[in-house]
Amino acid sequence: MKKIAIIGGGISGLYLANLLEKYPDFEYKIYEKRSKFNLEEGYGIQLSVNSIKLLNKIGFKNLSAHDLSYPKKVNFIDARNNNKICDIDIRKFNDEANYYTTLKRSTLLSFLLDAVPDNKINHNIELKKVEYNGEKLNVLFSNNENENFDYIIVSDGVFSKSKSIISNKIVAPKFFKSVALRGNIKHYDNSDISIFMGSNFHFVIYPVNQNKEYNFISIIRKNLSKEQLLDGKLFENSDFLQSLIGIINQNSILDLGSNLENIKAFPIFVSEKLETINKKNIFFAGDALFAFPPSFAQGASQSIETSYELFENIKNNNDQFYKERINKINSINRRSKINHFAFHLKNPLSIFMRNICLKYLTKNEKFLESYLGKIYRN
Ligand SMILES: Cc1cc2nc3c(=O)[nH]c(=O)nc-3n(C[C@H](O)[C@H](O)[C@H](O)COP(=O)(O)OP(=O)(O)OC[C@H]3O[C@@H](n4cnc5c(N)ncnc54)[C@H](O)[C@@H]3O)c2cc1C
Repeated sequence: MKKIAIIGGGISGLYLANLLEKYPDFEYKIYEKRSKFNLEEGYGIQLSVNSIKLLNKIGFKNLSAHDLSYPKKVNFIDARNNNKICDIDIRKFNDEANYYTTLKRSTLLSFLLDAVPDNKINHNIELKKVEYNGEKLNVLFSNNENENFDYIIVSDGVFSKSKSIISNKIVAPKFFKSVALRGNIKHYDNSDISIFMGSNFHFVIYPVNQNKEYNFISIIRKNLSKEQLLDGKLFENSDFLQSLIGIINQNSILDLGSNLENIKAFPIFVSEKLETINKKNIFFAGDALFAFPPSFAQGASQSIETSYELFENIKNNNDQFYKERINKINSINRRSKINHFAFHLKNPLSIFMRNICLKYLTKNEKFLESYLGKIYRN
């Protein structure tokens, strides 16, 4: 029986655990830095049909439809005046069994945790050192215990410390010169995904269940100094949060001030380049492999896809994993950057031109198939 250490119990680590749980040839353990999982938050996540297909392989379709939402359209709206520019009918990428889905991140995590026995999750533990011991990998953990494994999967997120330890060099993500502001929005009623485009910011609102609860997420271009990024308190400071809301309010007619709840802000970090390693039986997954700019909402879906591909590679003793991933990572990264650029235009003439292009492209089947279909249909 092969033994696998999964470092990090986020979306990618837990999805992989679900696949391994159904496959008796493998034994696995998860090592998670945090003392417990946060299953309370009401923030949302979008899952496109490529990851829904993979989630359905582990029983996602049995979740109560009440806790999920199936948006029909993505609306593009000018934030300054609330005028709708155009929309995309995203149902065209669904099939009979798999639909574009929005939900609370905590609903997804609870579902993924359901099938993983508690005794396979070791909390408050990080990876400290790895050495080859013949065919095995000897791992030293932060509690000073060590254990032999056949495989190590590093899935400890965008700031992956384990990646640096294993690569023997500092591998750090770069600040994307943007800040995310998220919360839940009240007094809103629209079951689609709506993208409001402003100057130097955009925000997205979508339902997270059938209970009229909505997620609000905004990406605001903002450069911060090193000191600000290191200041853990800045992002909890109410003046700073108000200043971010102010940036949006200046250019949007939607009244956010009184309707936003549970507001949180955080800086956005992305991967500078794809760093793989050529170390036998050690693989990176999810954001630890590559963290995308969030404007294409593909991070979690790609984390799930990566874990599925890793599982198939390990099962079939194949080492083609990175070769197959590189192209997909590059095309999603490109699309995420294009979206970020197009959603944040400031100059009125550029905005006018963008809106004409959007109207045309969102109705052009060939374009939609190549821009979205290629990614969503994996
Ligand atoms: C603003 C924003 C909005 C987003 N919206 C979407 C969206 O709508 N749709 C979408 O598909 N994606 C979205 N994403 C991206 C998505 O959230 C991530 O890509 C996804 O969570 C990555 O999963 P992961 O398992 O790799 O990492 P994570 O989910 O971050 O999990 C990493 C885990 O590792 C643990 N850990 C950290 N360090 C260590 C360590 N040293 N040792 C052990 N454990 C450790 C952490 O505690 C955590 O549990 C968004 C991202 C941002 C920034």
